[in-house]
Amino acid sequence: METHATQKVEEKLFQNRYRVDAGRPHIRIKDAELCTHQCSQKQCTVCCPAGCYTQEGNGKVVLITDGCMECGTCRIVCDEHRNLDWEWPRGGFGILFKFG
Ligand code: SF4
Repeated sequence: METHATQKVEEKLFQNRYRVDAGRPHIRIKDAELCTHQCSQKQCTVCCPAGCYTQEGNGKVVLITDGCMECGTCRIVCDEHRNLDWEWPRGGFGILFKFG
């Protein structure tokens, strides 16, 4: 019987590369106050596989798009408030998969 080595998600993610488009994030939060005060679930902070969204102690949601895998999950989970401007990265920028 063939056995497969187990690999953690973090190890797989480490095989990717990300080219930052400095000063031009491809996803933006439209209204940060809405996230802080009107979004009770803040699902982006738990659903993003790249951990791009974090919640600070005061409830503010911080988005850093470096490492984004362009999966679109955050667009879907933010359907109640539709508080994201989401675009594909410009050509030559963003995620590059599988360098391991
Ligand atoms: Fe995270 Fe996917 Fe949204 Fe990128 S598109 S920020 S990886 S949930």
